[in-house]
Amino acid sequence: MQSILENMESCVGCSACAQRCPALCVSMVPDDEGFLFPLIDEKRCTDCGLCKKACPVLNAGSTEPDPEQSGFPRAWAAWCLDDGIRLSSSSGGLFSMFAESCLRKGGTVFGAAFDSDFTVRHTGISRITDLDSLRRSKYVQSDINMCYRETEKLLKEQRPVLFSGTGCQIAGLKSFLGKQYPGLLTIDVACYGVPSPKVWSMYLDDMKKRYKSDISAISFRDKRNGWKDSRMHISFRNGRDYCRTLGKDPFFIGFGKNLLSRKCCFNCQFRHPGTRADLTLADFWGAEKIMGIDPGDNKGISLVIANTSRGEAALTAIREKCFIAEAPFDEAVSWNPRLTASADIPLNRPLFFADMNRGMRFPALKRKYMNPVVQSIKLWVKRTLGEGVAGKLKKLIRV
Ligand SMILES: Cc1cc2nc3c(=O)[nH]c(=O)nc-3n(C[C@H](O)[C@H](O)[C@H](O)COP(=O)(O)OP(=O)(O)OC[C@H]3O[C@@H](n4cnc5c(N)ncnc54)[C@H](O)[C@@H]3O)c2cc1C
Repeated sequence: MQSILENMESCVGCSACAQRCPALCVSMVPDDEGFLFPLIDEKRCTDCGLCKKACPVLNAGSTEPDPEQSGFPRAWAAWCLDDGIRLSSSSGGLFSMFAESCLRKGGTVFGAAFDSDFTVRHTGISRITDLDSLRRSKYVQSDINMCYRETEKLLKEQRPVLFSGTGCQIAGLKSFLGKQYPGLLTIDVACYGVPSPKVWSMYLDDMKKRYKSDISAISFRDKRNGWKDSRMHISFRNGRDYCRTLGKDPFFIGFGKNLLSRKCCFNCQFRHPGTRADLTLADFWGAEKIMGIDPGDNKGISLVIANTSRGEAALTAIREKCFIAEAPFDEAVSWNPRLTASADIPLNRPLFFADMNRGMRFPALKRKYMNPVVQSIKLWVKRTLGEGVAGKLKKLIRV
């Protein structure tokens, strides 16, 4: 067999194929943009076809209608009542509430964590003391490792599992499993697009050089200045700190411009209504305008969407630990464009990766493509001259 998908650009990198292969002849290998793709060892491949059966892209839309989905989606504005947890989460801290509920039943929670060198990888935890490692968004595509296999093993032993990740990772898990399990709850996060792990690693190397130190902690959405003005915060082992608003941090500028996203993110099939998760979590930016809800503390509001009756039951189970108010679904998602629609591919994305692959170093890439000065000028043009002029300028100078 040559490849799993005819058009490999639609591969989401979930590794369901690699984990399902009985001969273990599929390995996940980074391409020149730094995203993982399956590579088949043709000598060992028996052509059994199980990799194709497990692929969420090949099986998107081919599943039977789920009876648990009737009457859904429904949406809520919510935040967790524990201020400490809420402040150390990216949105309103709802993920931690669902996770604690699963862990208290003796279950395992899977999600994205940093490893020792701040690479983002999925992992499973079974103790509340380990939950902080999964907390907070890491805006980089995470490596799923063997987490689907581990999940299947636990579910077969009738142990509860909460699996969280991006929409494509949940779709990957579902098509890997190939059947429903009563003990499984799935959560996907609204997804803007997943940035390249290779660019992330270049950014970190640049930071370590500039601050002459290894890194001890990273928060992509530090809330010390509030949820609406969250910052990239990096602590270094030598005691120094880096803290920038999202509009001034180069990695976030690249992320915001969709320059760093995987190609499949520009045509994602797993956003609403294509999600296969029981619950979807997002920031609820419109809560104040739509529902007149403002906790007045700027600590974060979650948008929680139940896509199935199982998702709603999980929300009911954590009700006492959260503020929850039902929201009109269509209005709620209209504040969060990436919940339902993919971004357009930026014109300069191929140029960015071409420059990177011909050896341009991060400081030069940053100056050319992720420049906070250019970003500030753009913001000024938008605010003072309006969207129309900003759009025309963007076409002219392609930044
Ligand atoms: C790449 C990415 C893009 C996002 N884009 C948007 C967006 O456009 N709009 C929006 O409203 N929200 C977006 N989110 C979701 C948002 O940032 C919060 O993660 C979400 O609202 C949950 O917040 P919380 O406070 O409940 O929990 P938190 O504790 O803040 O989040 C933890 C959850 O995020 C998951 N997670 C963290 N990093 C990753 C990762 N790299 N890959 C997969 N799962 C991860 C964990 O597994 C866990 O489920 C995005 C998240 C990611 C990871």
